[in-house]
Amino acid sequence: MKRVFIITAKADFRWEYMTRCDQCGEIIVFGGLKIYDNKFCKRTCQVKYSAKIIPQKVVNEYRHKIRAGRCSVCKGPGPVNVYMHYRVWTIHHHWNCVSIPQISCKKCAIRSQIGSTFYSIAFGLWGIPGLVTVPIQVFKNIQGFTKKPLPWNSSEAEEQSRILLATFGTDSELWNN
Ligand SMILES: [Zn+2]
Ligand SMILES: [Zn+2]
Repeated sequence: MKRVFIITAKADFRWEYMTRCDQCGEIIVFGGLKIYDNKFCKRTCQVKYSAKIIPQKVVNEYRHKIRAGRCSVCKGPGPVNVYMHYRVWTIHHHWNCVSIPQISCKKCAIRSQIGSTFYSIAFGLWGIPGLVTVPIQVFKNIQGFTKKPLPWNSSEAEEQSRILLATFGTDSELWNN
C-alpha cells in the first residue's frame, strides 16, 4: 500500500492510501482479491498471479492428469490437447496481434478459432494495419482447423496448465475422476 498525494480538478487536495493490483498495476478502488499479502483488482489477475507461483513439481505432476482429463471449456470427455487461436485489433495506426493458447478438445479449439476470426474482422479493420494483419490472423485460424496440436512439453502447454490449475484447482473433477 502506498501513500499518495492527490489534487483534484477543483483544487481540493489530500493524502490517500492507494492500493495497486500486484498483477496489472491498476488502482484498486473498492474491495479487491487477495493471496497472502498481495492484492488484485479482478479474478483474472488473481489467477494469473497464482499461476506463476504454483511450484514446478505440482505442475509436472498435474500436466499428465490435465492431458488425460476432461475438456476445461465444454467439460466433454476430450481428448484434450494444446491448440492456438489468433486475434488482432486495430485503432488508427496501432494494432495488437495476439496468439492465444488453449487446452481443450478439438471441437472447442475450432470454436475458438472461429470466434477469433470474427473478433479480428469486427475489431481489426479500424485502422490501416488491419488490411494486412486481419487476413494473416484469419488465415492462421483457418489453417488451425487442420493443424496438429502443440507438444505437451512446449512453453504454451506449461503456461496454460498453470492457468488451468490456478482457475479450477488441483482438486478439480476435470482431472480427478
Ligand atoms: Zn489487476
Ligand atoms: Zn471441449
